[in-house]
Amino acid sequence: MNRTFTMIKPDAVANKNTGAILDAIIKGGFRIIAMKMLHLTPEKAGAFYEVHKARPFYGELVKYMSSGPIVAAILEKDNAIEDFRKLIGATDPTKAAPGTIRAMFAKSIDANAIHGSDSDENAKIEGDFYFSMMERIG
Ligand code: UDP
Ligand code: MG
Repeated sequence: MNRTFTMIKPDAVANKNTGAILDAIIKGGFRIIAMKMLHLTPEKAGAFYEVHKARPFYGELVKYMSSGPIVAAILEKDNAIEDFRKLIGATDPTKAAPGTIRAMFAKSIDANAIHGSDSDENAKIEGDFYFSMMERIG
């Protein structure tokens, strides 16, 4: 598959980095197939991160992801999953390679500016969580 799913997280939107991050994504060769801004309820954030329910940071993650507006998008590019994970950098911004979105914009391992899907299967599940077919181009 050549699609991935992303969210610009509440810290990055609040810090006025939405435009700079979208610019990096577009200049990185990704085509935006669907995009919207929304404010998740704790219930919706909890459902999105259901896979992390057993992890110790789950409660904080749900609180953080519902703390303010986010921008969600489906992106298209050859080798989308791997290339996008490369563009955003490691989960912990102190370990993210220089020039990556997390190295430039993330504040901490929890408030880390951006999400990127980890597999084709999850990209589809995550994109379907936010977007109907009517809300996509192409
Ligand atoms: N997270 C956290 N503490 C951790 C690991 C992860 O708060 O020790 C948060 C962080 O926001 C991360 C999200 O949980 O982006 C999902 O974790 P995952 O391991 O899937 O990292 P990612 O795929 O986002 O790099
Ligand atoms: Mg992940």
